Amino acid sequence: MFSKLVGNEDVKDMLRRLIANSRVPNSLILAGDEGVGKRQFAIEIARSFLCNEANGGEACGKCAICLRIDTFEFPAREDKNKDDYKKVFFGGHIDVGTVVHYKRTILVDAIRDLERHANFRPYEAKARFFIIDDADKMNDEASNALLKTLEEPPPTSHIFLITSRPDSLLPTIRSRCQMLRFAPVETDKVEKYLVEERKFENAEAGLAARLSRGSIGRAVSINVVEFRTARDRVLNVIKSAIQTRDLATMFRIAEELNDAKNKDKFESNLDILESLIHDVWSLKVSGDTSRVVNTDVTDDLKRLAADAARANLPSWLAEIETMRQNLAVNINRKIAADALFVSMAG
Ligand SMILES: [Zn+2]
Repeated sequence: MFSKLVGNEDVKDMLRRLIANSRVPNSLILAGDEGVGKRQFAIEIARSFLCNEANGGEACGKCAICLRIDTFEFPAREDKNKDDYKKVFFGGHIDVGTVVHYKRTILVDAIRDLERHANFRPYEAKARFFIIDDADKMNDEASNALLKTLEEPPPTSHIFLITSRPDSLLPTIRSRCQMLRFAPVETDKVEKYLVEERKFENAEAGLAARLSRGSIGRAVSINVVEFRTARDRVLNVIKSAIQTRDLATMFRIAEELNDAKNKDKFESNLDILESLIHDVWSLKVSGDTSRVVNTDVTDDLKRLAADAARANLPSWLAEIETMRQNLAVNINRKIAADALFVSMAG
């Protein structure tokens, strides 16, 4: 049922209308940030067609068919066998298939397999559905293979392209598909979902919801306890820069951020640093607490904002962005972090 999905009410309304009028496009791009529920919506469209108990364009969500649709079985490890990824994956329903990428690419053979299956009549239902996950990972060869199918779509087959980067799709593909755009989910809806469906504690749900930036997927994957530990360490960097001018502490934290336990999380620590600097900056400029993300440390942030007269917060953020770009070319992270912290304490 669409009503079980969180957010994007306008997309739901449009889909209900399309389904009620039997006008669901044969080729559809579902575009929007990671984790906003695009794939769940695609599955739900398929359910609305296949469920025997469907009512007013809404699947029941409970019958055997509804439960079978989203049960794809993928090979256990991605690096095992490339050949496994040269085909459409089916799960519990023979008329619902999906294509996923191998390493960073959707293989052309998988798209050719999709083309073959799309030309079959439905076995069990009145339509067939094919979901291409991360469709922007199709290379030119795969894209061109798909184009052939999109040019003359079999009337009983629907092909859904899921992507967070619609602009990376070939223009010829975009022009042959209708596009549904998904917005980030509102923070209060993410929070409600975490409490009601995922049994989060209230305080943790609030923090995870604000950190999720509108992505349900990101919200449920946040470990709030781990986040707080990391966040308190990074907060110490800002305290040292603004309040104590304690470079020794900052160098020690730079060391920790690069030790064996933390080095894989270096970039997420940069995310945390940025979000804290944003919080201090917005408090310094307006005193408005409504835009603070790290609300559980608002008092610390307010004190920092009050003491930050000399701190050039926008230039800190610019330096972090430059550093992020340099990470791609394998700079020494410890040296880069040291340099950033020296300039913050300056
Ligand atoms: Zn059903």
